[in-house]
Amino acid sequence: MSKITRRQFNKLLGTGIAAIPASVLIAQLPSQAEDLPLVDPESATAKQLQYAAVTPDEGKRCDGCLLYAAADDEKGKCSIFPANLVPAEAWCSAYAPKPA
Ligand code: SF4
Repeated sequence: MSKITRRQFNKLLGTGIAAIPASVLIAQLPSQAEDLPLVDPESATAKQLQYAAVTPDEGKRCDGCLLYAAADDEKGKCSIFPANLVPAEAWCSAYAPKPA
């Protein structure tokens, strides 16, 4: 059995990584926002902030809030709920309108 030197190992490793197209590596990365669950209205934070999955006031929706970052047309990220997504039509008492 032949021994492989550190130099040979590094060369093989470098060649192997270079052979994988960047697009394949990127496609393997987990989608950050799309995989998050929606906010549970029964969670402690949601209850504390009177979170509603459908806003009681059509003029105040998550997609009009300063803390909202759209993931797609229907939902987005909110810094109040970093482990979840919020529907665009939701609302909570931390609502802060985006500047006009
Ligand atoms: S702070 Fe409240 S209203 Fe604003 S995006 Fe987050 S959940 Fe929606």
